[in-house]
Amino acid sequence: MSRDDWTPGTRAVHAGLPDPERGEPFLPGPTFAGPFHLPGDPEGAAYIYGRYGNPTWSRYEAALGELEGGPAVAFASGMAALTAVLYALAGDDQPAPVVVPEDGYFMTRRVAARMGSARGVEVRLVPTDTDAIVAALDGARLAIVETPSNPGLDTCDIAAVAEAARAAGAALAVDNTLATPLRQRPLELGADLSVSAGTKALTGHADLLIGHVAARDPAHAEALGAWRRQTGSIPGPFEAWLAHRSLATLGVRLERQEANARVLVDVLRGRDDVADVRHPGVAGVIGFDARGRDRCQAFLAACELVIEATSFGGVQTTAERRARWEGDAVPEGWIRLSPGVEDPADVCADVADALDATR
Ligand SMILES: *Cc1c(COP(=O)(O)O)cnc(C)c1O
Repeated sequence: MSRDDWTPGTRAVHAGLPDPERGEPFLPGPTFAGPFHLPGDPEGAAYIYGRYGNPTWSRYEAALGELEGGPAVAFASGMAALTAVLYALAGDDQPAPVVVPEDGYFMTRRVAARMGSARGVEVRLVPTDTDAIVAALDGARLAIVETPSNPGLDTCDIAAVAEAARAAGAALAVDNTLATPLRQRPLELGADLSVSAGTKALTGHADLLIGHVAARDPAHAEALGAWRRQTGSIPGPFEAWLAHRSLATLGVRLERQEANARVLVDVLRGRDDVADVRHPGVAGVIGFDARGRDRCQAFLAACELVIEATSFGGVQTTAERRARWEGDAVPEGWIRLSPGVEDPADVCADVADALDATR
């Protein structure tokens, strides 16, 4: 069977592994290096210095490229990746509007505002809604959309936005953190860039921060690589290696997280003491209104299995009251819950018991 025919889940298990060599491991361990041996003329050297490149990132990026369908550049975190997109593609001395989500990850808006005010760039804040995004593209140079959005879990039609962006002459970047390239491939849908916080479901063990951007146009990947080389927003080799190792289980983790999300949604929709239960269908994350700040906090404190923590997409089920942070327009009792890979019966029982105890 040809590698091209593999499903995305199978591809994730093998992605980026070097050609087999007798006596060598499947995935070589991390290479820790500042400078590399470099006698004479540096021309043509594969590795020069740890801010320029590292074989452990190269393998991780090759894996991401296979999953995303375009060359990938890894960064120190999801925000390092988004900052690179904003500054490398729209932060030069030709100020033209950028479109960013009004209801997406709040730090993206903050960095866009900082870049915009420093460079005289107009920043258009738009809700995650296909028509609203399309209407904001006129004259824009770059649009960032986030679908499903975090924390509201709203979605937009990437293919429709991509077509409109192309007509308007704007580059389209999709923050694909929630869905991961196993559930949604923005480049195939016509986007120019696919950005992710690998910190979340992509690596899924709540033990590292990493990010990446995959590009349709190799010139964009070049520009992002140059930004990383200059600013030093590089992933550590150990993080890149852990992230690569974690990709192999992405398919099975997502299947269990999604199955747990579906049964939890059934439990929650069957209750009259929570409202507005949301699940975007891809990935595991769900949202619901636990009716007020106090109830929400009491519920979280009553959980035994569900860990109260920010972030999502990990193997342990986590939840938080999102309004405890500034920056998101969500109800006081809004809970973002990220199902882990525990037994569904245990997760459901924990949530139901904690809701009953705090009803
Ligand atoms: C968490 C997150 C980010 C930022 O990622 P970090 O790795 O924490 O910097 C960006 N976008 C979305 C949608 C996120 O959920």
